[in-house]
Amino acid sequence: MSKQIAYIPLSGIDKLEIRVTNCKKSMAQVKQESGADYILNGGMWNSDGSPCPILKARGALLSKVPWGAYGYGWNTGADIRLESNWGLFENFLSCTCLIGPWGPVDRPSYDTAQGGTRGRSAIGIKDNALCLYCTSDGSGDARTPEQLREELVSLGWDSAVMLDGGGSSQCDFKGSKITASRKVHNWICVYLKQAANPPEDKEDNMSKYTVCLDPGHGPGTVNGSPDGSYKEHEFAWDMYGRISKLLEARGVHTICTRTEDAKPSLTERAGVSNRAGATCFVSLHSNAAGNGGWYDAGGLEIYTSAGPMTAPRNILATDLVNAFHAAGVVLRSTPIVHSMDLTVLTKTDAPAVLIEYGFHTSKTDVPLLLSGDYRDKLATATADGVCQWLGVSWADEPPAGETDRTIVQRRFGFADETMDYLEAYQYADALLERLATAD
Ligand SMILES: [Zn+2]
Repeated sequence: MSKQIAYIPLSGIDKLEIRVTNCKKSMAQVKQESGADYILNGGMWNSDGSPCPILKARGALLSKVPWGAYGYGWNTGADIRLESNWGLFENFLSCTCLIGPWGPVDRPSYDTAQGGTRGRSAIGIKDNALCLYCTSDGSGDARTPEQLREELVSLGWDSAVMLDGGGSSQCDFKGSKITASRKVHNWICVYLKQAANPPEDKEDNMSKYTVCLDPGHGPGTVNGSPDGSYKEHEFAWDMYGRISKLLEARGVHTICTRTEDAKPSLTERAGVSNRAGATCFVSLHSNAAGNGGWYDAGGLEIYTSAGPMTAPRNILATDLVNAFHAAGVVLRSTPIVHSMDLTVLTKTDAPAVLIEYGFHTSKTDVPLLLSGDYRDKLATATADGVCQWLGVSWADEPPAGETDRTIVQRRFGFADETMDYLEAYQYADALLERLATAD
């Protein structure tokens, strides 16, 4: 096995410990000396032997200059939680936050030595269980940090921190092992209560709804307006950002079928939704007609695989059409169309719709599709329609309340003290400018 994942109910944990061995002991030695039920390699360390970025064990801060980042803090173990303030706990471990309090971190913070496709280790929390993850370096289960994030998101982890990886990745989960020769600086050791009940195999109810958003196409695809002013994949990616922000603000969890620079196959896109057990799937596109030049056809239409109109996918499509109509969006004369030819609609387990927001071959639609205000209108109506279908109250929820500070935090996973530092030196402005131009 080149991948091991453990879910340990917090109620069954007697003790969670960081054992610091300063690169002098192997995992087998740690197992023999500690008798821990679960062992996983821990965080990183500097060339001088000091741990980084933050490691606190048994009340002692061991890292030299703690650089604020979200990590896990705990006193005994069962009380572990994602936090940015290491001062609150006897033990604290941070590395690269992949899923923070706001959801997946868009651009996980790590240096180049941690990048690339490597063995990966991670710690997280899902429902009320501690999650430990390990893949073997050089195996087919090696991952980039971003791929690891996508996998942990699809596994439904509520929060996640990537640990040291590559040749450091190794674990012994009650005898199920991934071995490596490296003697790492510190180890995560979990001890179970003696009379612990067997893990309950309960349903995941924590995040009630997961909406899988599918921004169509990807870089390199030619779909766009005849004059080259508009590209469909850029529009789809931008719409994904707008819609996900609105849904997350209403407590609806969203996942995405691709990253900004990727173009997965249609089957892979359906797979992302299926693995995550998504509540519904919404594919984001713009339409084309004619023979490569401008053409008259215009307006919004929504595809589903087939009737009847009482099927959940068609009720979703109807809720969306109603929301677009209410927002004053121009619709096609038959706004809901059935087609069995669209892979993302037929291979997706969840009720699936594909929205063609307008025609990028229409001289009337293109200026609208390029407009930020119009995109906001489309995104709001999309989120409104989805929430209507989910039964999530729209008006009663508080407004998103995103500030520049929380945008930067969400994108980079920075902790509060890091943000204070950035703001003091006005780096946050530069990051925001970079975000604005990158998108
Ligand atoms: Zn398309």
